[in-house]
Amino acid sequence: MTASGAQSLMRIRLRAEQDVFVVRQLGREVARAVGLEQQDQTRLATALSEVGRVMLAAGPDTEVEFTAEPNGVPTLRVAVGNPQPGGAAEIGAQLVQVGRLVDTMEVSDGETGTVVRMARRLPASAPRLTPDRMDEIRAGLAQHVPGTPLDELSVQNQQLIAALDEVRAQRDDLARLNAELEETNRGVMALYHQLSDELEETNRGVVALYAELDERSVQLRAASEAKSRFLANVSHELRAPVTAVIGLTRLLLDPASDPLTAEQRRQVDLIGGSAGDLLTLVNDLLDLAKAEAGRIEPQWSEVDLRVVFGQLRGTLRPLATRPEVDFVVEEPAVPGLRSDEVLLARVLRNLLTNAIKFTAEGSVTLAVRAVGDDVEFTVADTGTGIPPELHERIFEEFYQVPGSRAITGKGTGLGLPYARRLVGILGGGLRVDSVPGEGSTFTVRLPKS
Ligand code: ADP
Repeated sequence: MTASGAQSLMRIRLRAEQDVFVVRQLGREVARAVGLEQQDQTRLATALSEVGRVMLAAGPDTEVEFTAEPNGVPTLRVAVGNPQPGGAAEIGAQLVQVGRLVDTMEVSDGETGTVVRMARRLPASAPRLTPDRMDEIRAGLAQHVPGTPLDELSVQNQQLIAALDEVRAQRDDLARLNAELEETNRGVMALYHQLSDELEETNRGVVALYAELDERSVQLRAASEAKSRFLANVSHELRAPVTAVIGLTRLLLDPASDPLTAEQRRQVDLIGGSAGDLLTLVNDLLDLAKAEAGRIEPQWSEVDLRVVFGQLRGTLRPLATRPEVDFVVEEPAVPGLRSDEVLLARVLRNLLTNAIKFTAEGSVTLAVRAVGDDVEFTVADTGTGIPPELHERIFEEFYQVPGSRAITGKGTGLGLPYARRLVGILGGGLRVDSVPGEGSTFTVRLPKS
């Protein structure tokens, strides 16, 4: 009956019903000796007494052998054999529940009769089953004096009480866990409700904010349109009388008119100059109002940059007459682009005029280059420069850098906002890089096509 590698610990023969108590006690002893835990000792003892009872009922002369498997996973095995042949099916049916108390149980018919084999793995905490330890266990078991059935009953009762205690402790644990779980659930639900309330509240806030934003942007658009309309109307109304004043001063100064005294001539000159400034302002305002009102429709065509650069060179050279300043219009590195020639030239002229106005010495340079699918025009000067915090403000209407004085000519503070509008209409952007005292570079970026 000994399995390979397993070593016999003890063998006992059952003849009468009382022997079931003996085998039960012995089973517990062996289980304890090889290192099974308390509960497993009871399980094995119970399984063994059940198997013994069933086997004895099938026929007397039942033999029980305990073996231990010290190698691999240390295991305790018990074989209960009965010389009655062919009883495996019936015995197996009676022991179905018992099988649960051990790791494996099998009932088989062999040449020597019916055998029930059970096995239980030993826990890692069990002492190693060295040959010495095996001898020690054998010696201990040989000295084991079986108790009376009454002793065994009392032990069984104690085990039952312990098992019941454990069941109660487990039930209490379960009840406590359930209570905790319920509490946690309540907490989670409360948190969930609070979060969804907050979310709803936030959503309501966002919706209200968007509604307000929409309303504000409608108001803003209306205000901006009203401003453009006002600017356009006022400047249009002003243009006729201002042009008339200029015409009248010319008439007064005409050699064919009645002669004026030197003082009168000086005053009429002053009137003419102021009226000229006013006309420039009115014209700038009218241009800006038109651009803002979306009334500028670009005329798209292939623009030959050599032509545009040539014209700018020609028209602006008279402004850049000071020998201290080099006025350079480079040969265009990009032959052309699809744009509105008139609007593009107006933007570049505007930037070049500014550069000439604010540069006392050094150079003013216009250049163009390709950047990916875009074209970049740069107007670079070595003039007064603009403090970094004002780089955006100079694009606001009427804004002029405090203390900045044009070297030549005057300004209205409308040139840059107008230029930026036009560049926007052409589908591009206008930006500035500048260091006070070193100079400024204005960059116009436009799509090539
Ligand atoms: P303005 O008619 O005064 O030139 P702009 O809108 O063209 O109006 O420019 C606004 C202001 O930006 C100018 O008054 C000047 O202070 C500053 N600015 C513009 N271009 C330059 C430049 N190239 N160098 C230094 N400052 C400049």
